[in-house]
Amino acid sequence: MDLIELQDFAAKCTNCELHKDKITPVFAKGNPDAEIMICGMCPGPDENSEDNNNGWPFIGRAGQLLDQILDDVQLTQKEVYITNVVKCYLKPGIRLEDEWINSCFPYLINQIGLIKPKVVVGLGADAGRALLNKSKTVSLGSMRDKRYKLTDETSIVVTYHPSYFLRAGGKSHKHYDRIIEDLNWVKNIVNR
Ligand code: URA
Repeated sequence: MDLIELQDFAAKCTNCELHKDKITPVFAKGNPDAEIMICGMCPGPDENSEDNNNGWPFIGRAGQLLDQILDDVQLTQKEVYITNVVKCYLKPGIRLEDEWINSCFPYLINQIGLIKPKVVVGLGADAGRALLNKSKTVSLGSMRDKRYKLTDETSIVVTYHPSYFLRAGGKSHKHYDRIIEDLNWVKNIVNR
């Protein structure tokens, strides 16, 4: 199966109840040949909107901040492939259920298998826990600053979700430099 077929399967997926609120299927954006895959949590209202003609993730406020973060570490859109753990829209304020993550996870694993990135960067605790198969009690702090091996060719690194910074000052958040450090480290891993 290639990425287009996988995207098509995900768009038509009815494996869990989240498909019922899906207006726009959201799969990925960026370069499928990139060495860095960035993985958020799930599409929000901006991504689910019928105006999102390309079905791209991260097109709202969190996406704008993610673009600035990538700019700050001098990563272009061509150097990354961006997707989400869960492909269907989740209404704001609802906690992701394991059941939804589990039924969507095969899409992500197949994406990783087809793209073969050197590093998958999980954004936020939920994405990190899903990628690393950790329980809900595991904190972002305990997953950060570590390089996990997924396969011989792919590592996983977990860092903050852009929405975390949006809650308090965006780029002037007191911990903004941490995501910059993390992504510079990811660049080093990839260039080694
Ligand atoms: N938009 C996305 O596509 N993913 C997120 O995790 C947040 C916003």
